[in-house]
Amino acid sequence: MPQKLAAGNWKMNGQAADLAEIEALLPAVQAARCEVLICPPATLIDRMRRAAGSAPLAIGGQDCHAAKSGAHTGDISAAMLKDAGASHVILGHSERRQDHGETNASVRTKASAAIAEGLVAVVCVGETLAEREANRTLDVVGGQLSGSVPDGISAEMLVIAYEPVWAIGTGLTPTLDQIGEVHDALRAALAGRFGAEAGSAIRLLYGGSVKPDNAVEIFGVSNVDGALVGGASLKAKDFGAIIAALGTAG
Ligand code: PEP
Repeated sequence: MPQKLAAGNWKMNGQAADLAEIEALLPAVQAARCEVLICPPATLIDRMRRAAGSAPLAIGGQDCHAAKSGAHTGDISAAMLKDAGASHVILGHSERRQDHGETNASVRTKASAAIAEGLVAVVCVGETLAEREANRTLDVVGGQLSGSVPDGISAEMLVIAYEPVWAIGTGLTPTLDQIGEVHDALRAALAGRFGAEAGSAIRLLYGGSVKPDNAVEIFGVSNVDGALVGGASLKAKDFGAIIAALGTAG
């Protein structure tokens, strides 16, 4: 069984004053029976790393460029994230696919670059509401998985986050059966591609309106190895409760 992972995505939120939330979160991190990761804006990676001190809190980026360095104004490379103190990077979040036209091919290239730098790539997949209503969820998510994940990875380099686009930041969530159906399909696809051992060791996170009051039931779904949490990761009280819920999940 892979170690469970509670991951927070701060998106474009957070300034120095918000590091108080990290200090408030540290008791929950110290007591966690799972891995804990927060991906703040790049401007806070170094300061969050320092605020965490010796606590087992991993820090990640929210995107990286595929190149190591060069003439790419406004971009950040995987090597830079690592240099700033990151150990993980979220790639292919639906907001980046929508706002920045990221494709499976570009996400795959970025994931290769991140992994080559020793970062864990947290690759996001998920269907839109129109795709779900057209009964295309498994096809869409399966296509994103096969297109966005590079070949030749090992389990500790990769985390997959299933995030239905329509559930992100909306307060809506799929039914537990719907989450289970997608996670089972992702697990089978990973096992088919990378072999049973690696396929069962790659963490599969659910993301989309995870809150303290729905975390326990979501973490009870088979093949859910944790969560990628947006809004509720901004407040120590809420994210701490989600971390605790994950620690008690079977
Ligand atoms: C996310 O942005 O990855 C996310 C899941 O957001 P929220 O938890 O706010 O729905």
